[in-house]
Amino acid sequence: MTQTSVQTTHYVPDDLPTSIRHFIGGEFVDSVDGETFEVLDPVSNQTYAIAAAGQQADIDLAVAAAKDAFSSGPWPRMLPRARARVLHRIADAVEAQDARLAELETFDTGLPITQALGQAQRAAENFRFFADLIVAQADDTYQVPGRQINYVNRKPIGVAGLITPWNTPFMLESWKLAPALASGCTVVLKPAEFTPLSASLWAEIFRTAGVPDGVFNLVNGLGEEAGDALVKHPDVPLISFTGETTTGQTIYRNCAANLKGMSMELGGKSPAVVFADADLDAAIDSTLFGVFSLNGERCTASSRILVERSIYDEFCARYAARAQRIVVGDPHDPKTEVGALVHPEHYAKVMSYVEIGKTEGRLLAGGGRPETLPEGNYVSPTVFADVAPTARIFQEEIFGPVVAITPFETDAEALALANGVKYGLAAYIWTTDLVRAHTFAQSVDAGMVWLNSHNVRDLRTPFGGVKASGLGHEGGYRSIDFYTDSQAVHITLAPVHTPRFGGN
Ligand code: NAD
Repeated sequence: MTQTSVQTTHYVPDDLPTSIRHFIGGEFVDSVDGETFEVLDPVSNQTYAIAAAGQQADIDLAVAAAKDAFSSGPWPRMLPRARARVLHRIADAVEAQDARLAELETFDTGLPITQALGQAQRAAENFRFFADLIVAQADDTYQVPGRQINYVNRKPIGVAGLITPWNTPFMLESWKLAPALASGCTVVLKPAEFTPLSASLWAEIFRTAGVPDGVFNLVNGLGEEAGDALVKHPDVPLISFTGETTTGQTIYRNCAANLKGMSMELGGKSPAVVFADADLDAAIDSTLFGVFSLNGERCTASSRILVERSIYDEFCARYAARAQRIVVGDPHDPKTEVGALVHPEHYAKVMSYVEIGKTEGRLLAGGGRPETLPEGNYVSPTVFADVAPTARIFQEEIFGPVVAITPFETDAEALALANGVKYGLAAYIWTTDLVRAHTFAQSVDAGMVWLNSHNVRDLRTPFGGVKASGLGHEGGYRSIDFYTDSQAVHITLAPVHTPRFGGN
């Protein structure tokens, strides 16, 4: 990476890279054919770096390096304890430079700096968690007394293809890198083209921690080029993908030819259901944070709030008053609660939904760009009430600071509204009635349910969605299961009855 100072009117981190390259077989390299793409920052919307745009040839080189490291390198053969030590060193390094990571991530994504710092710390925690998990890993044996013992021989699958989105990029990369590396796989990472900056930092972190060359490979580039080549590569047996549902459907089809293992973490339109018996103060705090944190660019955002009719007017009034006071501004300012959306294309998409919302609901807060911020991808926290379940802002993922509030009369109606979308990632239930809480949790179409809380997740629990929100669950041992093959070995302890074909 080369460094220079960029002339813009807003905060620019020191030593900001101006070129972002691939990392293949332990070396930073350009694309074979020299292709590049421009990377913008979301406050000035100016190009601050030129990134290498990977094509088939670059993916071929990265997969070859990863395949070689897998078939003849030390990584898959190391004792779990030795691999765990490397993973802990990675976590230490991420923790030690969390402020720098957050600063770069904030510059590249527009996430508020305090939230980017939390994401950097979570990335370190992911490595620590999987380091601990692999040394505690136990596998099954099955005894048939006197006749047979069967055991599971867990083996890393090979070269893992990891494709990640632009929201919280560094943390979401760690979410795949940590279990893949812990399992003994080697990897090719294709990060999102809007936000390639933080991914390039992994290379130095891994090298310093002792990850052998070829184990971690990074190819930047567009989804339809570098991503597509990775998905279709015959030497990559599994793809872990996080991104939009429509992209996931394309990748699903493209994986079929090679029958690849797939983990799909896709979009969401998650409901927060607030019953009249809920702790209203806590529900308002939590549902504000649930949709407006991370600029609303959050897969598990509670972007639909369903509120029982008897408290509906009070909820809407208090919620809107708070939304109007949310601090929107410079992502680097620690006071900022909502920063700039990642890219002008995404800004235009979110703004188009704000306009659609004005025809579909009653605008209570926001509704456009803050007057004090004429430049940059800023959107005021926007609240629509009285939104019908047929509305597009009720049905479609907006992925920005926009929320739809809808009233309900009965538990059955609340459930029908909650389940009445194609997605099923998360659900948040607010009630003090224990029976209602658990009954609702069991009926709602959601891979994850939080009772009286926003998204606070123990790393051991399953993570994933149902319906259009995903395929397969990761988290804890499920992630290790995904990156490994459970080979069954059958040991015979006694003579086996064998029908004697051809013996007469
Ligand atoms: P996206 O689907 O546009 O892109 C995601 C990644 O896929 C990028 O790296 C992109 O380059 C790549 N890609 C695009 N087309 C491809 C193709 N044909 N073949 C291979 N790779 C391809 O998603 P995004 O806009 O970057 O991210 C936002 C989306 O991610 C939202 O829908 C959000 O809900 C979802 N998301 C889901 C989770 C979850 O855990 N369920 C978490 C975060 C984000």
